[in-house]
Formats: sequence, C-alpha cells, structure tokens
Amino acid sequence: MQRYTQELLQPWADSARRLRLKDIAFTDHDRYHTGIDFDEIDRLRERNPDLQIRAGIELDNDPIHSPAGRKWIEKNWDKLDFVLGSVHFLGRADQMFDSVPDGAAQFEGRKVDDMYADYFRRLRELIATGLVDSLAHLDLIKIHGHRPTADIGTLISETLEFIRVRNLAVELSTAGWRKPVKELYPSDSIIKLAMGKEIQFTTASDAHSHAQLGENFVNLAHKMAEIGIRQVCIFEKHKRAEVPLQL
Ligand SMILES: [Zn+2]
Repeated sequence: MQRYTQELLQPWADSARRLRLKDIAFTDHDRYHTGIDFDEIDRLRERNPDLQIRAGIELDNDPIHSPAGRKWIEKNWDKLDFVLGSVHFLGRADQMFDSVPDGAAQFEGRKVDDMYADYFRRLRELIATGLVDSLAHLDLIKIHGHRPTADIGTLISETLEFIRVRNLAVELSTAGWRKPVKELYPSDSIIKLAMGKEIQFTTASDAHSHAQLGENFVNLAHKMAEIGIRQVCIFEKHKRAEVPLQL
C-alpha cells in the first residue's frame, strides 16, 4: 500500500499530459483503500486544472480484503466518481488466478469450461453488490490462454444481460495485450454482443505505474474504429456521460 501524496500522484498527471490524455481515473485495488486520500486528489486537481481527474477504485472479490473494501466504498460512495468491478479470485484465497505466471497452476487438473462458468458466476455475484459502475477486464479468465471447449455464448449473454439491466458499463482494457493471452479485454465477440445490447464502454490501460498509462491506446483506437464504437463513457460521482469519439 502506498499513501496518496503529490509526489506519488503528480507523475501520473505528467504522463497523461505527455500523452495528451485529458481525462484519467485513479482506480487502485480496494485492498489498498487505506492509501487513498481524497484531499490529495483534490490538491492534484487544483495543480493540474487542464486535466479531468477522477477518483475511483477497483472492487474485486478478494475473500480476505474485499469485505473491508466494500465497507469503505459504501462509506465514501459520494466522494468516488467511479467504481470498477472485477473477479481476481477463484478457488484460492491466497492467490489471484491472474498472477503471471503462477496463477496458471490453478487451471491444472480442472476443466477449463468449469473454470469459465465459475468465473462468470462470481462476476455476477460481484455485480449484484450494486457497488459497481463498470466491469474491469470482463474476460480476465482467458489471461493465461486457456480457451473454453464449449460454446460460452449463453454464459456471456447472461452476464451481459445482468450488466445491461443494471445499466453498467464494460471496460475496454489494453492490459490484455501485455499478458500471455495477448488480446484486448474483452474479446471482439464479447464487445459485439455488448454493442447489440447497447452497453456502453469505458477505456483503460490498467496501468500499475505511470509509465504504463495509456499503453496501446493507439491500437485500441484502431480496434474501436474497426468494430464501430463511436463513443465512450466517463463517470462523475457515478453519473455516466457519453463522449463521442473524434474519428
Ligand atoms: Zn483488476
């Protein structure tokens, strides 16, 4: 955990400016919530008036830490612009299945189809908390390159329907391109199914350092143009606004 200070945060604003990003969101994992300081975010906003800086967090299903994270989010809901929801834990409480490369061992001796069903069930459980604005890396389960053998169309459709009914967004995350799967999160087919349901998208690089900010956004822009996504959405105090893309 790192406590928010100007020394920690300002390099992110500098990176954003260099990349000509106008709007960024901090979305630390909820297990690091004790480091988040809204006053420091306000100071950063004052020091960087040319940028929109969103206060966010990523709530996951960490069996050990997320109960406290959920409480913190409920308590600070009105100060947060944006909550991402994600699933990082399957059978083991002590290891995220998306740890690279160690998490791949969690797939050994198990049926990939069962793992996919388990993953999406947990994702729906997380969505049902009502504490989420957008779903992070929706098909993270593919991270190590395991592909389902059965058709998962129904599983995906049910999950997207869950998302649509609650009026949530889905994140397009370039992080997948730097992982073993080397593919955008989520896959093209999921994006198209989501578009069919008029679900809106947020964009992310899931940067774990300011050097990763906006990674592969040029490729993402190409992908979005190719698929026909003409707008993204942003959140201010959980209120969604749609931003048309300049083509
Ligand atoms: Zn995540």
